Amino acid sequence: MLEDIICCEEDLKNLSLEDLTRLLQLEDEKNIKSLYRRAYQKKAEKGGKKVYFRGIIEFSNHCQKNCYYCGIRRENPELTRFEMSREEILESARWVYNNGYGSLVLQSGEIQSEEYTDYIEELILDIKEISGGELGITLSLGEQDEKTYRRWFQAGAHRYLLRIETSSSELYNELHPDSHQFQRRLECLKILQEIGYQTGTGVMIGLPGQTPADLAADLKFFQSYSIDMIGMGPYVPHSGTPLASGDKIPAELGRRNLDLSLKMVSLLRILMPDVNIAATTAMQALHPRGREKALQAGANILMPVVTPRKYREYYQLYENKPCIDEKAEDCQGCLKQRVKSVDEEIAYGEWGDPPHYFRRLGSRTAELGGEIDAENAAG
Ligand code: SAM
Ligand code: SF4
Repeated sequence: MLEDIICCEEDLKNLSLEDLTRLLQLEDEKNIKSLYRRAYQKKAEKGGKKVYFRGIIEFSNHCQKNCYYCGIRRENPELTRFEMSREEILESARWVYNNGYGSLVLQSGEIQSEEYTDYIEELILDIKEISGGELGITLSLGEQDEKTYRRWFQAGAHRYLLRIETSSSELYNELHPDSHQFQRRLECLKILQEIGYQTGTGVMIGLPGQTPADLAADLKFFQSYSIDMIGMGPYVPHSGTPLASGDKIPAELGRRNLDLSLKMVSLLRILMPDVNIAATTAMQALHPRGREKALQAGANILMPVVTPRKYREYYQLYENKPCIDEKAEDCQGCLKQRVKSVDEEIAYGEWGDPPHYFRRLGSRTAELGGEIDAENAAG
């Protein structure tokens, strides 16, 4: 069946919604393996065996938002709230730099305020300074206004992750309170691209009510929005949230969501060979080798958690989050082994920017007659 749908090279980029929906429902083990192999070959053709690290610092679980699926949502009264001190964040950034990770990600709940904007701006400047400008900085700090995104970009952040969660506005509305607007997410992504950020988004896979056709539409969305970096992972329930209502994920469903996530990674790699795709931590929540499997299915990015151990238990977006009892050093050793086990290599000290970004920037610069300011777009 796979060969019926993907026959020649030309078919790959042009897979239709219907084709993608059918491929996401592949059941036959041989066909599924063949899909992963094709995707891995695509990845290897563009990027060799390299896996890039982004050390992720989850520096605060304070959040003004109330997404129905997330363990750190505003209305989770059970959660102990924390905020790393500035010095702790810089210490973690130094660790990332000294260990040759190349890039870090600053992630937290969503806070919108003047004070917060100033704080993050200063932090970006300080991180640039401690690494002599060498550390790449990705932000994952939710929806902000254009001025804020610009200030952070000018301070030296050059990548931004803002997941769309699902490209179906109906499903999005079911997962969020009315004040969280799907349209605003789309606007934010456009603003980030206009400013010059390498722009990342992603979706959760296996959400209640989500169909294979919805997931196929997500893949088409990444393509039509010309996204540079994609982080997709299984939805994993958190019992303290309205969406999970106390349920544990049944093993059968967990397996299904992991399989779907791996197929999504492979199909995306086939559709968009030059983007960065993360092997997300949530995959490991569903299978001990979930992240390795994602690398073999076409992913090329790993995001080792470098948050100090004492804070990790308070940053559980979902249950079963791996590595909460570990230190940054433990995660480093463990990931080294995991990468080696699938015969891939860690690209130490490299930023690992997605070639797609430069292609997108190039076509935009041509459109604007060379007007775009790409000063820190490439670092
Ligand atoms: N607050 C920022 C935001 O929402 O963009 C950044 C942090 S947020 C915790 C990062 C991502 O975690 C979300 O975009 C969402 O996809 C993911 N997430 C939250 N709850 C989850 C769950 N129960 N299962 C899987 N992923 C989840
Ligand atoms: Fe807050 Fe992000 Fe969780 Fe939504 S997904 S509740 S914005 S941390």
